[in-house]
Amino acid sequence: MLFAHDTECALVAAAALVNTAGGRDGLPDVPALDAFFTTHGWSGRHEHTDVELRQVRALRPRLRRIWYADTDEVVAIVNGLLRESHALPQLVRHDDEPYHVHAVPRDAPLATRMAVEAAMAMADLVRMGELSRLRHCDHPDCDNVLVDLSRNRSRRFCDAGCGNRAAVSAYRARRAAASHS
Ligand SMILES: [Zn+2]
Ligand SMILES: [Zn+2]
Repeated sequence: MLFAHDTECALVAAAALVNTAGGRDGLPDVPALDAFFTTHGWSGRHEHTDVELRQVRALRPRLRRIWYADTDEVVAIVNGLLRESHALPQLVRHDDEPYHVHAVPRDAPLATRMAVEAAMAMADLVRMGELSRLRHCDHPDCDNVLVDLSRNRSRRFCDAGCGNRAAVSAYRARRAAASHS
């Protein structure tokens, strides 16, 4: 494990949230947000309202900018998110999880908690000099972002099947080349 478990989970969740905004919107309605909430193991306050959905959707472009920013810009974004959210780190334990850090209470709005968890995880990346872990999918037709948590920094493709698509294209290209020779 490169980072603390909660940091890695928060990074993966932040990338997944950013990627819901690419192409066809992955968070078109409240049920889609409910599914995202469950998939990424969120707990705490969840209102199932259009207001909550709008707040979460509005967070996506702000988080996406982190993937395109240099270190100083990332720091400005992270500090801004933490300041706006009145973040106050506290060690907490709930459900079956070991002690981990929450910087806003569990009854804070979902979008606020998503913003703060992402910001805290990005703060870890900055402190460890690991912002290069924030990468873009290598598939030419894909705009998705990813977090490379592999030990040898070998991750190239996002979770949307781009690795398979690239392998199939390479296979077809080899077959085409072979049939022409
Ligand atoms: Zn927690
Ligand atoms: Zn991709």
